[in-house]
Amino acid sequence: MNIHEYQAKALFEKYGVPVPKGAAAKNAAEFDTALATLPEGPTMVKSQIHAGGRGKGTFTDGYKGGVKFCPTKAEAKEVAGKMLDNTLVTIQTGPAGRKVQTVYFTVASDIKKEYYLSILLDRGTSQPVIIASTEGGVEIEKVAEETPEKITKVFVDPAYGLADFQVREIIFSLGLNKTESKNAAKLLRNLYNCFWETDASMIEVNPLITTPDDDVLALDAKVSFDSNALYRHPDIVALRDLNEEDPKEIEASKYDLAYIALDGNIACLVNGAGLAMSTMDIIKHFGGNPANFLDVGGGASKEKVVAAFKIILGDPNVKGILVNIFGGIMDCNVIAEGVVEAVKEVGLELPLVVRLEGNNVEAGKKTLDASGLSLVSGDSMADAAQKIVNLVA
Ligand code: ADP
Ligand code: MG
Repeated sequence: MNIHEYQAKALFEKYGVPVPKGAAAKNAAEFDTALATLPEGPTMVKSQIHAGGRGKGTFTDGYKGGVKFCPTKAEAKEVAGKMLDNTLVTIQTGPAGRKVQTVYFTVASDIKKEYYLSILLDRGTSQPVIIASTEGGVEIEKVAEETPEKITKVFVDPAYGLADFQVREIIFSLGLNKTESKNAAKLLRNLYNCFWETDASMIEVNPLITTPDDDVLALDAKVSFDSNALYRHPDIVALRDLNEEDPKEIEASKYDLAYIALDGNIACLVNGAGLAMSTMDIIKHFGGNPANFLDVGGGASKEKVVAAFKIILGDPNVKGILVNIFGGIMDCNVIAEGVVEAVKEVGLELPLVVRLEGNNVEAGKKTLDASGLSLVSGDSMADAAQKIVNLVA
């Protein structure tokens, strides 16, 4: 789960990670109240969307920059009016962009130098890794490609936590002076606590800055959390912004379905994450494009299958459906009944290929036959994939 910059900064403050003062507004009527909490003077207006590259982004109406410096609060208010409800396209949003539904006003800091700092989970070593660089405010991918020697990585053993020598290693790599080092060390420790205690999967601060007074501040904040740990963080769940999520994924999460929308046109309904992945692979292999990843799980109920089927049918890009079930724990007949029920409720005009195998497969096939549904059976995974790819083509 991702949160907005303004929410991440409130979280940072709770953990003692310094950020410039700021206030968010969700509509024009809130601009004045939000601005009233800030001192008069240079103010930044920042579009709040779950995507990076906002500063260099362009709105669909041609207005440039999703993050803007304004010398006065009056100008900040005017700029906020241009951003709110406008659609921002950045390198991370795709060409459709994202509608800005919240703007964030924040004090413009006096920047001495910009740095990069992030903490994320390294899957290779199963440890948190801290990544720091003197090259802040630019994409870290670019730094990694062009000047990898300017990136320092420190792996933290979760059993010991962040050690003093590791904090020093990072600070040293950034070439900070004495006061800056002291401030940065404190910030880093607090940021690591924040990462650890909230079950974050990534915290990225780009840029982290130093000021002429040798203060160290987080100017940007991107935070994502491990969805599997959200059950123990109701305060974080409360930050979820459904406006930023795909409506189909929201619907799927209500039924506890593992669903991810993709941009192809062949919908897949599969049980088991591994089978779901290989189903997408085999569709690709035969020249098709999957419209989604969907794992209904091992012991799905009929209601869950109905919900899943309705979600994939609700995607206007879908031109065909492949149901690929290997019944281990899953009862093939439950899938069959779910599919029949869903079609009864919402109708079906698209080609449907079904491959059922395993537990209670005969009953499942009988249910499908008896339903009078026009569907094509696949004898094997390869056969089913080829059939749906041909039908859609
Ligand atoms: P994004 O990474 O999405 O483009 P940032 O929050 O990093 O958004 O903002 C882009 C740039 O704007 C930053 O690299 C920084 O130079 C500047 N900036 C952002 N917030 C502030 C601030 N509070 N004061 C001064 N400059 C800022
Ligand atoms: Mg940034």
